[in-house]
Amino acid sequence: MFSSLSDRLTATFKNLRGKGRLSEADVDATVREIRRALLDADVALPVVKQFTAAVRERALSDEVSGALNPAQQVVKIVNDQLVEILGGQSRRLQFAKNPPTVIMLAGLQGSGKTTLAGKLGKWLNGQGHKPLLVACDLQRPNAVNQLQVVGQRAGVQVFAPEPGNGVGDPVAVARAGVAEAVSRQHDIVIVDTAGRLGIDAELMQQATDIRDAVSPDEVLFVIDAMIGQDAVQTAQAFADGVDFTGVVLSKLDGDARGGAALSVAQVTQRPVMFASTGEGLDDFEPFHPDRMASRILD
Ligand code: GDP
Repeated sequence: MFSSLSDRLTATFKNLRGKGRLSEADVDATVREIRRALLDADVALPVVKQFTAAVRERALSDEVSGALNPAQQVVKIVNDQLVEILGGQSRRLQFAKNPPTVIMLAGLQGSGKTTLAGKLGKWLNGQGHKPLLVACDLQRPNAVNQLQVVGQRAGVQVFAPEPGNGVGDPVAVARAGVAEAVSRQHDIVIVDTAGRLGIDAELMQQATDIRDAVSPDEVLFVIDAMIGQDAVQTAQAFADGVDFTGVVLSKLDGDARGGAALSVAQVTQRPVMFASTGEGLDDFEPFHPDRMASRILD
């Protein structure tokens, strides 16, 4: 991910090396290159526009630091701008004052929600929490079983509907899951929800009903970074539908061009909180915009 974008930006900065001062024409040429590189990486157009306008304005302003040469200044400005579009500061999970903390996962089918439930559960377990995974994806025949397998691998308990008891009603299962967590003293509940291959009103309503029933402290929208340009539209639909609190970028280990990852936080104005980087349960980390920006500009 990002290797082509990274190469293109580095090549652009190279052209500025050795220049004593940047003329407006130099800045404009650089901004044009950055614009092309971002568009070719599948970054959404509104994000590209905002990004390049901010870079241009700052590169032409007087706020420049004497300690940096013009090329370094441009790198710093692009770096700061990347950090900003990725959500600025890292955002940690918000825990409830009165446990259990409820974390709900939403996203399209195949985005990596169930895998994330296991990753998050294992990670929180390692920090001394006692999470409970709740299987509210009753749409896909094998989803409940898949969560049970993931829970077992992660060493985290799973609450699933008994056959014939509330089956088919994910809202009831979510409520029962939270009640179970209270009675068994789990301090965190991770609610896995159903996804569809595309956005549809019924899916969004179901997610909203679950949200309203269990009042989650966090709603994490999981997005497959490989889906390219569609990411922005999907993210916006979920932002309008369930109104998530944070983004999880999954499949960052893939070879996508990375534009989705760079657009989603900015378009939805929600921070990226975690990155999922493989199929293994340990392929997961809190997301730090500044580290990601340095990785791209390395
Ligand atoms: P869900 O339908 O949203 O619950 O998605 P799943 O968790 O079932 O994941 C769909 C597929 O993507 C599975 O084959 C996972 O192993 C795979 N997957 C999930 N997260 C990642 C990731 O970060 N990287 C890679 N390469 N594969 C992943």
